[in-house]
Amino acid sequence: MPEYTVTVEKDYLVFAAGHFITYGGRCESLHGHNYRARVELTGELDENHYVFDFGALKKIMRRLVDELDHRMLLPLENPKIVLEDVDGGIRVTHGGRVYVFPRDDVVLLPVPNTTAEMLARHLALRLKDELARAGARNLSALTVEVEENFGQAAHYREALRP
Ligand SMILES: [Zn+2]
Repeated sequence: MPEYTVTVEKDYLVFAAGHFITYGGRCESLHGHNYRARVELTGELDENHYVFDFGALKKIMRRLVDELDHRMLLPLENPKIVLEDVDGGIRVTHGGRVYVFPRDDVVLLPVPNTTAEMLARHLALRLKDELARAGARNLSALTVEVEENFGQAAHYREALRP
């Protein structure tokens, strides 16, 4: 069966978020990006001659992106970044720096570092769950791209069938 690919790239799939990453022995200082997400679904056509309904895909992606918008993104799996629940928020310690963020302003992500690559993977795995819940069985792969600066993006591809 031939396969087709659909893509969605919209102005509202932008999220403004704060983060810092660790690399080598060092840790960036706190800063933010206007990230932009883009998604690609590949698969056989369904009975409606769709790979996946654009309207439904846009709605799912917008919801996933909104979860990250106007938030501080923190990695749960980084041994150099210590996160603690304290009164009124989350205390973050790394190297000599200590921050306390209001709990509602933070998203704790199951990733080792909040790089564009890891954010793309996070969104892709969230999308994979949503597509399964929506009953999509014709898809063979999905790709999520996260751009953190103009012309500077990471892609994560998840195969949906062996
Ligand atoms: Zn950055």
